[in-house]
Amino acid sequence: MLEEKEHVHHFKENGGFEVDIRMKLESIDDPFTEVPPSDEMTVFLNQHIGPEGDPLVKKGDEVEYGEKIVDFGGKGKMCVPVHSPVNGEVKGYASVRHPLSGGKERAIIIETEDEEKEPCYEPLDPKEASRKELLERVKEAGIVGLGGAAFPTHVKLGEENISHLIINAKESDPNLASDVRLMMEKPQWLIEGIKLMGHILDVEDITFATRTEEGETPEFEELLRDNDVRIKRVRPNYSVGSERLLVKEVLGKEVPSGEFPPQIGTIVHNVATAYATAKAIKEGESLVSRGMTFYSKKTGGKNLWTRMGTSIEHILEYVGVSQVEFERIALGSIMMGPTIPDPSYPVLKATSGLTVFTPEESDPYEEEKPCIRCGYCNTVCPVDIYPQMIMKAEEKNDIKRLQSLNVLDCINCALCSYVCPSNIRLTPYLERAQNKIRKKKG
Ligand code: SF4
Ligand code: SF4
Repeated sequence: MLEEKEHVHHFKENGGFEVDIRMKLESIDDPFTEVPPSDEMTVFLNQHIGPEGDPLVKKGDEVEYGEKIVDFGGKGKMCVPVHSPVNGEVKGYASVRHPLSGGKERAIIIETEDEEKEPCYEPLDPKEASRKELLERVKEAGIVGLGGAAFPTHVKLGEENISHLIINAKESDPNLASDVRLMMEKPQWLIEGIKLMGHILDVEDITFATRTEEGETPEFEELLRDNDVRIKRVRPNYSVGSERLLVKEVLGKEVPSGEFPPQIGTIVHNVATAYATAKAIKEGESLVSRGMTFYSKKTGGKNLWTRMGTSIEHILEYVGVSQVEFERIALGSIMMGPTIPDPSYPVLKATSGLTVFTPEESDPYEEEKPCIRCGYCNTVCPVDIYPQMIMKAEEKNDIKRLQSLNVLDCINCALCSYVCPSNIRLTPYLERAQNKIRKKKG
């Protein structure tokens, strides 16, 4: 356990609210263990922001670990492929409720035959390969942002006129610790990934933004210094993990409302994405597994290396807990993870955590009461918008009003829902409002 005196135990937010991070500090001590794949893997065709790709396999086909099973076809640059996480046989396609979109989407069901792993691409030598070839590999390997957004990495790495690269290792969620474990366990791979990202973007000014304190990851810190990567110890604050606020914290620059960091010459990539990029280029690995943190009050935090498509019930079995002990499962962190109704749901590329709750840890949002207009949600909002007013405008479908309330600035941090004394889950209103405005904009 890390020494108590060395660490801040709460992230301080706007309005004086504090997020307790003792769960994270406990989880940091647990090294990664590799979860064997489940007997049946459920692999969604769409696991990123962007259109679903075209399936390449049919029922009865044998597939190999890392083999491309969904291609981007002619569906534009936002489409990324998906690869088989195991050697096995395709049992067919199923229409499964997607844990993120909530709607039914297509998934490929693969029966696992063995756990062997053999990269499917030839390693590339970054000194020999062109920028175009490196970008193509990142796309071919199906890399997306692993901080939770699942934005196609090749699109961000393909931006022009970028002068700053920020590697986001803030890992704000109070019960996740897999990014810090990567810094502890895979320092050489991380530095390779960061350098490759800088090379592809043709950027020399690189900042590594972290919540960790000096000396917490000594080997990695030395590598950063040796490679001229600036270390920025950002405020221990939950909301600063979002791109927009991180850019302000690191560079002191505002990303204009409705715009993104490239508009001010900056790109932000998550630290785990840098790891996946290095593995894709230097070892020919497609993105079929990732680090994540499992958390329950009973077990504490466990850092797991898990293949996409593995069922949640299989992970529960692996960590030695029974499904019947838990009433609610959140696919993600304690703050932001959506509740899933069924433990047969699989791990996705965007799954950075798994949090399970006993019946004693009841879901506060089950007993929603009317809004008392206390304004607490507005006070705590880190981007200074008014979630309560947005909720009202969304209910009335008042698009003009929603636009004037700058709803696109919302970083979906869920702090407003978390503090609401009436247990109102504000985040679905905010997401719907954002979708309505984006749809209107086309
Ligand atoms: S915190 Fe909840 S009760 Fe208070 S104004 Fe916001 S929505 Fe209403
Ligand atoms: S979810 Fe959006 S509206 Fe709510 S506190 Fe976070 S940024 Fe503000």
